[in-house]
Amino acid sequence: MTTNELLRIDREHLWHPYTSTIDPLPVFPVQRAEGVYIYLETGEQLVDGMSSWWAAIHGYNHPRLNRAIQKQIDQMSHIMFGGFTHRPAVELASKLLPLLPEGIDQIFYADSGSVAVEVALKMAIQYQHAKGAPKRQAFATIRSGYHGDTWHAMSVCDPTTGMHTLFERALPRQYFLPQPKSKFHGEWKASDLNPLKELLQQEGKNIAALVLEPIVQGAGGMYFYHPNYLKEALALCHEYGVLVIFDEIATGFGRTGTFWAAEHAGAVPDILCLGKALTGGYMTLSATCTHKTIADTICSGDAGCFMHGPTFMGNPLACAVALESLSLLLSTSWQEKIKAMEAQMREELLLASSFKGVEEVRVLGGIGVIETKKPVNMARMQQRFVEEGVWVRPFGRLCYLMPPYIIGEEDLSRLTHSLVKIVREQYD
Ligand SMILES: *Cc1c(COP(=O)(O)O)cnc(C)c1O
Repeated sequence: MTTNELLRIDREHLWHPYTSTIDPLPVFPVQRAEGVYIYLETGEQLVDGMSSWWAAIHGYNHPRLNRAIQKQIDQMSHIMFGGFTHRPAVELASKLLPLLPEGIDQIFYADSGSVAVEVALKMAIQYQHAKGAPKRQAFATIRSGYHGDTWHAMSVCDPTTGMHTLFERALPRQYFLPQPKSKFHGEWKASDLNPLKELLQQEGKNIAALVLEPIVQGAGGMYFYHPNYLKEALALCHEYGVLVIFDEIATGFGRTGTFWAAEHAGAVPDILCLGKALTGGYMTLSATCTHKTIADTICSGDAGCFMHGPTFMGNPLACAVALESLSLLLSTSWQEKIKAMEAQMREELLLASSFKGVEEVRVLGGIGVIETKKPVNMARMQQRFVEEGVWVRPFGRLCYLMPPYIIGEEDLSRLTHSLVKIVREQYD
């Protein structure tokens, strides 16, 4: 098949994320990827600035991850988790357990980030039910969040920026609080908590859990908020018998500079969702983790167990590669690496903050963001990035970088300079 034929069939028959079939945005045919480089069939070599949406933290085609998955294929690719267990699932758990926030020791493996969120919401409902509070059916969250594309995960995404406005009337109504105004690097304003206080006073008895992306709101706005909000929201919810779910699907595994973003606040949730970088970007796998007391309460209820069990639960290939990815991460000085990335991006993106059309430049850990005042022309910008030899995928008013942790100083400069250059072309 020629490249042109491939692109034609793709255009005529395949859906891409959030893309029209009538007027599809262009897609680029990727042939292979290695380290931080992506190679296109059309000959271009791109430096990866996206880690395939937070996931490929070790870069692509990593020999150790390849070997782990190959070794597991020769044993078994999959086996049902009902009635069976296996080394990849258990060894991954053993590796993960000491890394989980204090007291969290129960792991539910699921298929994707969105499903991990669904599982967390179901856990909260079953927990409240078992506690004799069946009226606690609703969830609270803050605006500009993103928690996935499945049904109830959608219901806790921002009603406008969360890409799901259309479904608003079909979805359960959740409680939306304002996004905390206090920024991560700014001053703490205690008044940020007032809306949550009021909500809990008025509606607390109807709320099963508060769902938050700790510190960094990802796809809903790439916004970094103050750690005090997280810490105090947690304490407030507990006063009112409301559980707290942290969605670390994007932020987990070091991206914000600490292993979990919640560590910036010293906050431990009741339920924790993991995904994306869990397998180093090799396969889809997620986990919803909680405390034994919560798990046991759930199982003491009418149902007698937690009511969920996906076909591909604990997939051995995914667990094997996740185990190796974690070992790899822990064997590197990832903290220093992220700190260096943070310092370099802060210095090299700074120039963009003086551009007329730029609202703000912000950097936290391995995340660098240029927020523009007006939405970007995605098709045009994407084309320009590819011409510059970098892979950056802007959305809305956000151009951002979250490169693989293995990126070298020169390649990172290539990313930041291209980003600043192309933003300047359109916003200065
Ligand atoms: C990506 C993401 C999800 C959804 O994960 P999928 O694997 O795409 O289903 C949920 N929450 C957050 C914070 C995410 O970034």
